[in-house]
Amino acid sequence: MTAQLRPDAVTAQTFDLTNPATGELVGSYPVHSAEDVAGVVAAARAAQVWWAELGYAGRKQRLTRWVSWLAKHSDEICELGFRETGKPKGDVQFELMAGLDDIRWAARNAERVLKRRRVRPGAAMMNFEASVEYLPLGVAGVIAPWNFPFYTPLCGMAYALAAGNAAVVKPSEFSTATGVYAVESFHRANPDAPAGLVGWVSGFGPTGAALCNAGVDKIAFTGSVPTGRRVMQACSATLTPVLLELGGKDATIVAADADLDAAADALTWGGFWHAGQACVGVERVYVVESVREEFLRRMKERAERITVGLDELADYGPMTMPGQIDIVRRHVSDALERGGTALVGGLESIKAPYVHPIVLVDVPEDSAAVREETFGPVIVINTVPDVDEAVRRANASDFHLASSVFSASHGEQIAARLHAGGTTINSVMTFVGIPSLPFGGVGDSGFGRFHGDDGLREFSRPKATTRKKFGMGRELQQFPRAADQYKIVRRVLRLRFARRVKR
Ligand code: NAD
Repeated sequence: MTAQLRPDAVTAQTFDLTNPATGELVGSYPVHSAEDVAGVVAAARAAQVWWAELGYAGRKQRLTRWVSWLAKHSDEICELGFRETGKPKGDVQFELMAGLDDIRWAARNAERVLKRRRVRPGAAMMNFEASVEYLPLGVAGVIAPWNFPFYTPLCGMAYALAAGNAAVVKPSEFSTATGVYAVESFHRANPDAPAGLVGWVSGFGPTGAALCNAGVDKIAFTGSVPTGRRVMQACSATLTPVLLELGGKDATIVAADADLDAAADALTWGGFWHAGQACVGVERVYVVESVREEFLRRMKERAERITVGLDELADYGPMTMPGQIDIVRRHVSDALERGGTALVGGLESIKAPYVHPIVLVDVPEDSAAVREETFGPVIVINTVPDVDEAVRRANASDFHLASSVFSASHGEQIAARLHAGGTTINSVMTFVGIPSLPFGGVGDSGFGRFHGDDGLREFSRPKATTRKKFGMGRELQQFPRAADQYKIVRRVLRLRFARRVKR
């Protein structure tokens, strides 16, 4: 049986989830209506009051308990993720580890980033004390894709909760079991938390759309560009703020002084890990002409060694979503018809539900395989005369999520010229797993950030407070104006701001 959400098993009320490789039933879930969604959001809003009142210390304690509970249940989580998406258990384990790092980081750093702090009042208001603090928004709606079924819900919940919010998660219809487990694990670890503090709703697009319209205080959406646009449009009706983590077409530059073995090892991983179903997967490589042949030889060797299947040690498993296989086929056939060459594999590598590694070379820059997100185990390698041309082509994309560069001595300089949310030097994708770094994109890859200080502020609203410390005798913000006020302020202006700029 091919990987699919069995449409015959979808009723108005429930849908079934099956293993994409074996067809084994994983679970049945409700198709939640707008009314159901409103109920879950209302429960979250009521519970958020308790959560906010716990303060940073109380929340940290509960988030830490959650981390420990998840770590103790890691085998169960890996088994469920594997059954639901077909990805190797080791990959689910990696998702879990990155998610635990996130929860722990958010719990430990929320107070430092968000607590009230004094700021300078400036010249015009020098007799005032000024402070800013970051308050919870209320209820965050987290809409997740299927490709990191455990990590994405976990990550959204981590930053929302640490900032004092309740959360309602809508997992993908292709990975609902794992998403629901992630939500329920919080309550299993914290039985004292009011029911509904973190809730879930399941179903398809309309359920996600209902969450956008349910009066939540923010939508954190991770998914494709077309759905991201729909989410933003739906949220505009109520001016609900949105965080959009969308697709990518990540480029890597291999410079003439790169360690070619290290580059080939990392790029094989970056392009084929999880069957290429990663937003920050490597899809385009620009290699400098002088090292092209040596590099291609190394890539071919490594790509041909990759194992695909369901066994424990397989490098990657099936495509999770059947529709994605058609996109891969379209990109590969278009690239080959338009003059590209297959260095490894080709159309014959597509054996649903599996797609074996495909490496294409010399593909026209305006073809779908270079312009659109493929989201499959396909790497395009194009040759450039020099690094300048590599940077130009890497940046000439609608997507700007992540990027990477391999160079022994110019990595920093090249990285600085790449227009992306993040760049990794001499490796790939690493910053995704570093919770203290902001993660997100530019352009069609979206806006807003998970992770780091920015990720915590994303789920809060800044509140400014000022307090008058002393009167100045003659107030500037008071009627009637003094006759000489204009002159006095002009003197202050010049004294304070008109000093010459030192060269
Ligand atoms: P998708 O856009 O099809 O679906 C994502 C979620 O949105 C699902 O839960 C879906 O049910 C829901 N949805 C669908 N229609 C909706 C609507 N009208 N309103 C609200 N919600 C709606 O994406 P997908 O196929 O599940 O995921 C793959 C995409 O996600 C790829 O483009 C990938 O690059 C991207 N992605 C991005 C990141 C990132 O951090 N930037 C991470 C992972 C995946």
